[in-house]
Amino acid sequence: MSYEIDPQYLLDTLHECVEVESPVGYYPEIHAWLRETLAEMGYEMTVDNKATAYVRVPGRDSSKTVCIGAHLDTIGLVVRGFNDDGTLRVRQLGGINYASIEGETCLVHCRDGRTVAGQVICNHHSVHVWAETKTDARTEDTMSVSLIADVSCPDDARALGVTEGAIIGIDPHFESFDNGYVVSRHIDDKAAVAALLDTLRWLKETGEAPAYDTLFAFPIYEEIGHGASWVPSEVSEYVACDITLIGPDYAGSDEHSVGVICSDAKGPYDWDLTNTLIACAEKACTEGRWNTQVCFHYSTDANGAYVHTNDLRAAAFGMACLNTHGRERCHMDAIVETEKLARAYVMGEGR
Ligand SMILES: [Zn+2]
Repeated sequence: MSYEIDPQYLLDTLHECVEVESPVGYYPEIHAWLRETLAEMGYEMTVDNKATAYVRVPGRDSSKTVCIGAHLDTIGLVVRGFNDDGTLRVRQLGGINYASIEGETCLVHCRDGRTVAGQVICNHHSVHVWAETKTDARTEDTMSVSLIADVSCPDDARALGVTEGAIIGIDPHFESFDNGYVVSRHIDDKAAVAALLDTLRWLKETGEAPAYDTLFAFPIYEEIGHGASWVPSEVSEYVACDITLIGPDYAGSDEHSVGVICSDAKGPYDWDLTNTLIACAEKACTEGRWNTQVCFHYSTDANGAYVHTNDLRAAAFGMACLNTHGRERCHMDAIVETEKLARAYVMGEGR
């Protein structure tokens, strides 16, 4: 089956979604946005105890339940303490590349509900002051968050509501270009969220039914490895829609393409289910715009679900991104191809 995808809807949804704060474990804002977005389409969102959001869509065949997921969480930081000058000492939430966030603005989500703007800085922050500014390794111990406020000691920061355990989201810094490229933080995994939302919209508008009862899942702990560590017991397969990679060992992958992940840092995905995704790509995707990958410093919620002893088959696919966990770069082509593959899987092609 060939699928017509509207790249403008995907771009608009990605932009909207990426602007909603959702660093690992901080779900209030993204859940509110997702619930409203789904309600406008005519869907009801449910949430389990570990804050994974779901939409259930009845299938043509109810003999099994399959799950396709895109994680809502993005990499972020958590406040662990204060330096004497009132800047914040932080720990990473997910695989932060500190060099890539230097100078970026951020929002500190305080436990009392207040939000304070900040900026990620090197402790030796100015080239005109320290020679080490140019040579320091960028790590958790050489970098801090400086609040954008009149703060000169820990008590000043605490007076704004900041405490140990406040969670920090990095500004998405979204830019789109007329030629279809998008540069933004958190394309991982907001582009996949957009693709699944558009698939849900398409199902509702056309009245098409998935092949099997299908749970669309939106976890909030993927970046630290346990987003899908629990899935409802009726789920027999979990397919993660997440970024794929560009570089040496990723032949044929670029920002226009979707990748099917055959194996990752945790090992291989399910043989049959991965072959189903490959067959879906052959049927639904543009020739030359899909590939298979072995992802090294990488894993997804699907293999996470499997490793955490759920009795299910795992597989994964998604749009290729450059500069991952930095200001990521993708092209709308890759998100379109990703949605084609998602629709084909949901509709039961390739089996
Ligand atoms: Zn991801």
